[in-house]
Amino acid sequence: MNADPKEFIANARAALGDPKLRPALGRLKTHFGAGRAIAVQRYGDFEGLREAGKAIRNHAVTHLDELLVQFEASVAARGGTVRWARDAGEARRVILSILQDVGAKTVTKGKSMVTEEILLNPFLEANGIEPVETDLGEYIIQLRHEPPSHIIAPAFHLSKEQVAETFFAAHTELDPKRSLEERNSLVQEARAILRRRFEAADAGITGANFLSAKDGAAVIVTNEGNGDLTRLLPRTHIVVTGIEKVVADMNDVAVLLRLLTRSATGQPISTYVSVMAGPRGPDETDGPENFHVVLIDNGRSRLIGTEAQDVLRCIRCSACINHCPIYGAVGGHAYGATYMGPIGAALNPATMGVENAAHHANASTFCGRCAEVCPVMIPLPKIMRHWRAIEYGQGLAPKAITRGLTLWAFAAKRPALYRLGASIAARVLKMLGRRGTIHAVPFKNGWFAVRDFPVPEGQTFQQQWRARK
Ligand code: SF4
Repeated sequence: MNADPKEFIANARAALGDPKLRPALGRLKTHFGAGRAIAVQRYGDFEGLREAGKAIRNHAVTHLDELLVQFEASVAARGGTVRWARDAGEARRVILSILQDVGAKTVTKGKSMVTEEILLNPFLEANGIEPVETDLGEYIIQLRHEPPSHIIAPAFHLSKEQVAETFFAAHTELDPKRSLEERNSLVQEARAILRRRFEAADAGITGANFLSAKDGAAVIVTNEGNGDLTRLLPRTHIVVTGIEKVVADMNDVAVLLRLLTRSATGQPISTYVSVMAGPRGPDETDGPENFHVVLIDNGRSRLIGTEAQDVLRCIRCSACINHCPIYGAVGGHAYGATYMGPIGAALNPATMGVENAAHHANASTFCGRCAEVCPVMIPLPKIMRHWRAIEYGQGLAPKAITRGLTLWAFAAKRPALYRLGASIAARVLKMLGRRGTIHAVPFKNGWFAVRDFPVPEGQTFQQQWRARK
């Protein structure tokens, strides 16, 4: 599969024919969808919580300039530093310079989609620094040299048998006859190996789920505790995250945490919530000596004031992905991008360019389920339509679609012609049908290769409307 967003259609076709992917994607509903539904029902006024989350994130997005300056001052007051990066290249260089300043050769990493977004790992490796992913899913895909297929479950596409194969191939120092049939044995093996890597790391890099401007603190949620070991054991800790993660204070963070974990995994709260604020204090027994936060724009600020601004509210819970029929059919790798599913469709055209990520905005049935489950009420289909309009306006849409829409617009402005066309089309479709179903239409083989269409019944809407008068 090609890690190129322009290859989405070919990738999706390959994914649809991949028998190993089916059982993994089948777990989306049982694993995440059902958990969220139960958590939402148990909470009670979840809609009220969503409204509160939306208001908090809207305030943050519309006051980013003030909150980010306040955050920088709060971090400095605690003895840390904030570094700014306009784009992925600048972010990579800033992180490298921090690591080189402290002579780091090995870096442990907590799960961070932003470091995936800026392609940090290959850059560090090319500069003689070894990154070690410590989230179990990230560790597995790092061994397999694959990108994440899901934003909170990076190895979601793999079975435990595939993970066992990966461990046998990678951990050659261990007994080749050991049993890795049980999930627990896989976890224990990864834990033992990663423990040694934690202890030897020169620096640790984590992401951040939220930043509190008032407290100069970054907050992450994990279920494995690897975030704490990444940030506490090495002498240098770097938080790498997007500028939009900032909110006013920890009260706002508390509301968003309630939304995040319920929407993501159905948990009332994750196993670990880590609040990271500055280097180790004089009276503290653990923590890093150096604390840096790298804040990355990478196209985010360009969204402010546009119809896509609402996507900056995203708290990366993955609920939209877990409920998306397109993601559920093709998985995450087909997108060829760090962010997949509806959030990818809304965000990638901004960060990667419409010319590169237009397929993502079109990869939607517009069923609207993503917007219904989004904890901060982002109108994802509306934002996808915005990118589609830009694609069309810039002449990037496929010629067949451009011509079809031009023809439709011409007819839609001429009611008599439209009525005539609709009535002819209905008659032709009736003639093509067999026992209530159309199995093929000339020149539309691709569409009908995987689906049928019901034969139109009775009169057209216009005919029924006229008959009522
Ligand atoms: S768009 Fe909404 S549902 Fe999707 S990841 Fe972001 S916050 Fe979650």
